[in-house]
Amino acid sequence: MRRKRVIGNWKMNGGLAANRRLLDELLPQLAALQGVEVAVCPPFPYLAQVAALLEGSGVALGAQDLYTVEKGAFTGEVGGGMLRELGCRFVLVGHSERRSLFGECDEVVAEKFAMALRAGLVPVLCVGETLAQRRQGQTEQVVSAQLQAVLRRSGIQGLAAGVIAYEPVWAIGSGETASPEQAQAVHRHIRALLGEFDRACAAATPLLYGGSVKADNASALFAQLDIDGGLIGGASLEAASFLAICQAASPRQEQERAQP
Ligand code: PEP
Repeated sequence: MRRKRVIGNWKMNGGLAANRRLLDELLPQLAALQGVEVAVCPPFPYLAQVAALLEGSGVALGAQDLYTVEKGAFTGEVGGGMLRELGCRFVLVGHSERRSLFGECDEVVAEKFAMALRAGLVPVLCVGETLAQRRQGQTEQVVSAQLQAVLRRSGIQGLAAGVIAYEPVWAIGSGETASPEQAQAVHRHIRALLGEFDRACAAATPLLYGGSVKADNASALFAQLDIDGGLIGGASLEAASFLAICQAASPRQEQERAQP
C-alpha cells in the first residue's frame, strides 16, 4: 500500500523569524501524527536554517528547484549535490510557475528530473494543464506529453523513483480546486499511462494532488483511489492549516471516513 505524503511548497515566502515561528508551532503537533510522510520546501537561502530546525522531527526537507547540471559557470543556479549536502531529500521540478514564468519546457524539466536522480534526490515532478487547455479537452494530452518527456529521458524506473504531483494550473493559488472526481480522473489517467510501461511501477509511484488544497477539501481529495496526498502551497505557510491537511492524510482519518 502506498503511504500518504504531504509536501509544503513555501514558494518565495518566509524569513528567519517566520520560519522558526511556523516550525515551532507545527513540529510538536506533527510528531503525534502517524502514517504520513511530511516534507517542507523553503526557499534556497533558508534550507540550512530549516534543516537544523527539522532535525529529529521526522519531517523531510525539500528544495523548490535545481539546475540541469551539477556545478560550473551558471551564475545564480543551484546544483543537486549542493541540495543533498544541505540535507534535502526532495526537490520540485517543473512547477507550473517555473514553466510559465521562467520558460521551462518539458525537455528542460526532464533534464532537471534526471539531474535530481543523479544527485540522490527524490524529484517531485509537477504536471498539469492550463484552464484554456482543459476547456479545449486537452488535459490528458498535456499531462501525457509532460510525463512522456521524463519517460524518454529517465525511463519508467527513473520516473517511478520520483513523485508525481498533478497540479492543474488553474487551481494553483486561485482558491479554485479541482473536484475530487476531476482530480481522480487525471490521477487514474497518469497511473494508466505508467502502467503501459510497467504495472508494478505504476502501482508504486506516489501521485499527489496540488492546487488550492485547504483544510476543508483535503479529506475528500485524499480519499480518492489514486491520490496519495498533496503538494500544498499557500496553506503550508500557516501551521494550523498545514497540520489539518496532514491530519486529513493520516490513515486513522481514512479509517474514520470508511466507518462513519
Ligand atoms: C503549489 O504551489 O504547488 C500549490 C499547489 O499552491 P496552492 O496550494 O497555493 O494552490
